[in-house]
Amino acid sequence: QNPLFQDKVIIVTGASSGIGRACAIHLAHQGAKVVVNYASDEEGGQSALDEILSNGGAGILIKADVSKEHDVNAMFEETIQTYGRLDVLVSNAGLQKDAPFLEMSLEQWQKVIDVNLTGQFLCCRAAARQFVQQVENGSTNAHSELSVGKIILMSSVHDIIPWAGHVNYAASKGGIMMFMKSISQELAPYKIRVNSVSPGAIKTPINQEVWSDPDKYKSLMNLIPYKRIGTPQDVAKAVAWLASDDSDYVNGETLYIDGGMTLYPEFADNG
Ligand code: NAD
Repeated sequence: QNPLFQDKVIIVTGASSGIGRACAIHLAHQGAKVVVNYASDEEGGQSALDEILSNGGAGILIKADVSKEHDVNAMFEETIQTYGRLDVLVSNAGLQKDAPFLEMSLEQWQKVIDVNLTGQFLCCRAAARQFVQQVENGSTNAHSELSVGKIILMSSVHDIIPWAGHVNYAASKGGIMMFMKSISQELAPYKIRVNSVSPGAIKTPINQEVWSDPDKYKSLMNLIPYKRIGTPQDVAKAVAWLASDDSDYVNGETLYIDGGMTLYPEFADNG
């Protein structure tokens, strides 16, 4: 238990699997009340919630597709009805629909932009509105030196590393960076903090075909100076820091959690 998370209410989107699941479990373990969001994988969501509850944590499960305005607003309403407030949004949900650019369909493009980028817009807007409302109705102390709400967006190293064969994904993550910085600039006067986390290669179902194949794993290691794949817990611990008042003066930043993937590793062998 961490006193910084006592009585804090946190929504984690896409918490039925991978990084989102690890964030939800870690934050609940720190003492937060966690909304475990899932889109279609109810079993995965329930299993994350069961782990939270069996460790003595608190949380609820809410189904919502982050790319649907009605679903997102209903998720925030249910959160407020249950816990009375919101302190942090971890906007994590995301997916890939890979295809060579020459063959990419509009549907593949649109799906990724809808979930990875429009989903961020809808969830961040709902969270920011809630934080402002809590100041207006007096349920958050606006005179505190500390922030009145925090938003963490799940981006990727592909917000700066181009990625052939995945242009819809890279475009969505590049979009997240400028979206994050712009809302951070706009919301800072309200004392709302907004930051991104950009993971490198993290061992989750999204990239299973890479880490489960020894040859592909070996060539992946050429891209990672630290010579290991990341774990969802590596990301969850960084998210917890950004979600706490320990990072109070950090605003509009992107934190790369990538074992050095963004360090141009091929230059290491070029003398
Ligand atoms: P994952 O496939 O294990 O988890 C993705 C989660 O998002 C799942 O819980 C899924 O149900 C949820 N989701 C998908 N569409 C949704 C929707 N419309 N509404 C609500 N939830 C939805 O993959 P992951 O690796 O845990 O990915 C989580 C985030 O981390 C994504 O944004 C991804 O882009 C990002 N990321 C992952 C890696 C990596 O190497 N694993 C690297 C960089 C960034």
